[in-house]
Amino acid sequence: MDMSMIYGQLGISETVLKYAKEVEESLKDRFAEIDATAEYNQIKVIKAMQEARVSDVHFAATTGYGYNDLGRDTLEEVYAKAFHGEDALVRPQLISGTHALTVAMSGNLRPGDEILSPVGKPYDTLEEVIGIRDSIGSLKEYGISYRQVDLLPNGGFDYENIRKAINEKTKLIEIQRSKGYDTRPTLSVTQIGELIAFIKGIKPDVICMVDNCYGEFVETIEPTDVGADMIVGSLIKNPGGGLAPIGGYIVGRKDCIERAAYRLTAPGLGKEVGATLGVSQSLYQGLFLSPTVVAGAVKGAIFAANVYEKLGFAVVPNSTESRHDIIQAITFGTPEGVIKFCEGIQAAAPVDSYVVPEPWAMPGYDSDVIMAAGAFVQGSSIELSADAPIKPPYAVYFQGGLTWYHAKLGILMSLQKLLDAGLITL
Ligand SMILES: *Cc1c(COP(=O)(O)O)cnc(C)c1O
Repeated sequence: MDMSMIYGQLGISETVLKYAKEVEESLKDRFAEIDATAEYNQIKVIKAMQEARVSDVHFAATTGYGYNDLGRDTLEEVYAKAFHGEDALVRPQLISGTHALTVAMSGNLRPGDEILSPVGKPYDTLEEVIGIRDSIGSLKEYGISYRQVDLLPNGGFDYENIRKAINEKTKLIEIQRSKGYDTRPTLSVTQIGELIAFIKGIKPDVICMVDNCYGEFVETIEPTDVGADMIVGSLIKNPGGGLAPIGGYIVGRKDCIERAAYRLTAPGLGKEVGATLGVSQSLYQGLFLSPTVVAGAVKGAIFAANVYEKLGFAVVPNSTESRHDIIQAITFGTPEGVIKFCEGIQAAAPVDSYVVPEPWAMPGYDSDVIMAAGAFVQGSSIELSADAPIKPPYAVYFQGGLTWYHAKLGILMSLQKLLDAGLITL
């Protein structure tokens, strides 16, 4: 078997391969830990599927109202069991992570209630949902207020100000697990548990909701294991395993899920309706594959951190930190650096590898943005993808990879592009 020959056919040089091999060999122990996490989570998912007695009848399509959709109801049972919640809402009608979070919040909040984010600013798209930035139909328009307590400069929780912020109106706590595209650290599930325990100590009946996007299966426990009342995420990220073509999930306390379901469909209808149109099999199979897919993505992120940190670039998380989500930031410091990196990611894709990504003015951004993705599912960010605003500090955010080998090829290709452009020396 001639590995350098097959890589050579894609334009990867011996120099890049040799450098990458040294880095990969230094990561053996960490990769073994990631494999152990994947093994644990794989068994957890299989156990949930067995207990819910999943059978091929559950893969059948329903249409119309979707009454008695056994596949849908059983999938929700599987999610509830796998994530240790009382109930779940897992639907193709939840069209994205933002939508699932919107349904979870608006279903559980009433006029006069207040949301508190004790971990700083929430994900960009939630700003308009909550009304931090005014928008038609925001929660603010329905008389729901919002408060925020930022993390301390060292990334810790500002317990004193969180205590002060909790009042008689506080109804729902929004805790974002992943840093997303922010600079703060990602929270571990253990840290989230400490935060929830503190908050419930002050106000036991408050609903603690965790935005779990990009975090699923990175650890062996989930926020529902440490007191979260609801966890919420997207099926075109981690738990869809790359196979789910659409969807979102909410898992948690039965009463919270019921209120969310009444918001998603209609009061009185709730979970009883919603045809699955034939996508159920992909949602089951995607969840089944998710633990190993996530492991590949985490390996890719750690590999990239080590490859680029050794070359002198700032990386977040750094090469040795423990991981709580699949996102990796690399600061190149120059527009050329981020552009070449993204060209490499694109050139490694199984889909659209022949296109060259270019920075472009996108609606909603204050600078040009470059995006690299060659995905089977449009916009899927569990598939290998990268994007960067073309402005200082010239950092690229990248994530995903349905297999470790694809994530690795993406990094090798990015190294080759940077090397060919004279931006690095190996
Ligand atoms: C992706 C993401 C969302 C919302 O996701 P969409 O599916 O793109 O709407 C929310 N929060 C975090 C932390 C995310 O990473």
